[in-house]
Amino acid sequence: MVIVGGGYCGLSAAAELARRGVQAVVLDAGPLGIGASTRSTGGITGGQKILLAGPTKNVTAEQLAGMLRDTIASFAYVTDLIETERLDADFERCGRFLAAYSPGHYERLLRLGALLRKHTGVSVQDVSRERLGEVIRTDFYRGGILVEDYGSLHPAKYHRALRGLARKRGAALFSHTAVSAITPSGTGFTVGTARGEIAARKVIIATNGYGTGTLPFFRRRLIPVASYHIATEPLPRERMAALLPGGRMVSDSQRNLIAMRPSPDGTRIIFGARPAAVDPPERHAAVLIHRIMCQVWPDMRGTRVSHCWRGRVAMTFDRKPHLGEVDGLFYAVGCNASGVAMMSYLGREVARRALGVQERPSAFETSHFPDRFWYDGRPWFVPWITEWYNLRDAIDRRFG
Ligand SMILES: Cc1cc2nc3c(=O)[nH]c(=O)nc-3n(C[C@H](O)[C@H](O)[C@H](O)COP(=O)(O)OP(=O)(O)OC[C@H]3O[C@@H](n4cnc5c(N)ncnc54)[C@H](O)[C@@H]3O)c2cc1C
Repeated sequence: MVIVGGGYCGLSAAAELARRGVQAVVLDAGPLGIGASTRSTGGITGGQKILLAGPTKNVTAEQLAGMLRDTIASFAYVTDLIETERLDADFERCGRFLAAYSPGHYERLLRLGALLRKHTGVSVQDVSRERLGEVIRTDFYRGGILVEDYGSLHPAKYHRALRGLARKRGAALFSHTAVSAITPSGTGFTVGTARGEIAARKVIIATNGYGTGTLPFFRRRLIPVASYHIATEPLPRERMAALLPGGRMVSDSQRNLIAMRPSPDGTRIIFGARPAAVDPPERHAAVLIHRIMCQVWPDMRGTRVSHCWRGRVAMTFDRKPHLGEVDGLFYAVGCNASGVAMMSYLGREVARRALGVQERPSAFETSHFPDRFWYDGRPWFVPWITEWYNLRDAIDRRFG
């Protein structure tokens, strides 16, 4: 079986196929891991995204329960895999703090905390503004909630460990092998690449925010959006402890959210944001994100930035990931900015789906994967939405 895309999703699919004795070949257009999978913040959650920003409108209670079940399963899948396969990924159950950008957002987060406790069984602490300093030393936020169970990993180490696992089980991984065409032939497909053709009985598409060009079906349904991170220069241990006591993962409640964490080795602050409506080059983005960081921590003005990078996620029109089959091709795409656990899990699930051995259908396999007649894969509207979100966040901040 051929898998197009060598991120967490493609590698997890390959590892599962190889475990079951199926010949799995992963093809990636760039160096393996060049997509979002080595560029993320490395936060692992289970359900908060679905309940906070996800597709809870227009879904039945049963569908919602199914999606939550899958997000919980995705968290368990990754943490179990790391433990049982002894993956060197710096996994830590450090907790995740969701910080409120306004008093109204704080109320919303408290409601989210109650839902998370009820539906996913996690332990959630309400952190009032007075207690903020226990998690993050800033006056910028109005309180928040702390989900003790969530964790973090080192994204690139996790990717390297998954590569090792897939190879150990017998999968073949090829970098710099962009797939340019997939055509039905006989009982399977001919997969065309710059380096030649491969015959495959089945094909899995795992290209998320990078592969919208290959097939029109995905071009009309996936919206690639860039997200940026900076890393500061190394900081003294005491300073790190003062900025983020407890070393939690943090993200805030803005629509254009900010995320921050200590680097896995605990020496730097990693700070993520979408710094401008139109994607700037990294050098310029670094200056803009540094400015945002100084709003949270004004005393970071003199701190230097050592690295800046960006990656692309894939949003969907219904804000949920999709797994399924189209024209005989299997796919798992549309991480909606949260895929360390979910895309790993859906990779395993799409492999099982392709083999017809799923334990139960995924809640993310639905008959409807929405497109828009006015969208052809060029995300011209993303800058407008970014500005619209900025405006709404500013209004929330001003008026509660
Ligand atoms: C800055 C940033 C921060 C993030 N933070 C978090 C976080 O804290 N927690 C979280 O859960 N998620 C986070 N995410 C999202 C997470 O990283 C992604 O959801 C996840 O990595 C997606 O994995 P994937 O395998 O589906 O896609 P990717 O890792 O993007 O892999 C897709 C691959 O497909 C390849 N490809 C594309 N087209 C072709 C082709 N034609 N032929 C061959 N190969 C092709 C690409 O080269 C790429 O390697 C973040 C993402 C970014 C960018």
